[in-house]
Amino acid sequence: MRSRPRNSTPANKPRQGTGKAKPLQSLKKATHATAAHVTALSQLLAERWPKVVVELDHKNAYELLVATILAAQNTDKNINTITPALFEKYPDAKALAQANQTELERIILRSGFYSQKAKNLIAMATKVVAEHGGEIPNTMEAMVKLPGVGRKTANVVLGNTMNIASGIVVDTHISRVAPRLGLTVQHDPVKIETELTALVPQDQWIVWGNRMIHHGRYICLAKNPLCDQCPLAPLCPSAFADVMPAKPAAAPKKPKTKAAPKRKVKGVKRVKA
Ligand code: SF4
Repeated sequence: MRSRPRNSTPANKPRQGTGKAKPLQSLKKATHATAAHVTALSQLLAERWPKVVVELDHKNAYELLVATILAAQNTDKNINTITPALFEKYPDAKALAQANQTELERIILRSGFYSQKAKNLIAMATKVVAEHGGEIPNTMEAMVKLPGVGRKTANVVLGNTMNIASGIVVDTHISRVAPRLGLTVQHDPVKIETELTALVPQDQWIVWGNRMIHHGRYICLAKNPLCDQCPLAPLCPSAFADVMPAKPAAAPKKPKTKAAPKRKVKGVKRVKA
């Protein structure tokens, strides 16, 4: 496992502040969306992240499905502190379907949006029991009909617990890293997934997605990507590009001036216009 870019020559040293690098957002088209480019990237990704597994703790498809629903707008690390108590009380879909919403909300409080998530979890479990005999379904079509489950969640569960490659997981990390690598210019996750699945061989969809997520989580960070530690840098059109601030700098505030005190003039009445 390497921690430095393959061609860590002076040419690959950070160019920040030189005024020559393009801002990441200036890449207007998918400049490197070719199978050959993806093959080369995949090789470097595999060397950097040889064994990657989903970071949400789970023992089966039910647990990973619940954990992935909870992980929306939250971190895997935090969700891993919540799920042990949750799975102890509700070990399967049948138990979760009978959960009291208030009690469930109390357990998942720290996951954020806990009220909506509790509603979705109970509705999801109820449908799994009613329509799938309590077993998590094994097709994309059935998965996305479950409350609170979209393609991303379905891909996570199908790929990591059933080894079914129905697509590529497109989460916040892949939505950021794939455009930086010149693989897509899309913003919509479904469109990104469509383009990536056309580039990456299907037998790599699961592991490739997991590696890209890892890469986004630990190297290609949102605000300050660690290009000097990135093995993909020699192939990345955004390597060492200036990172634009998340928001434009606020205009300087005008200094507050103290209003002059009103003077009362004796004998003069104010008249409304
Ligand atoms: S070189 Fe930089 S921008 Fe490109 S993938 Fe690596 S960390 Fe991200």
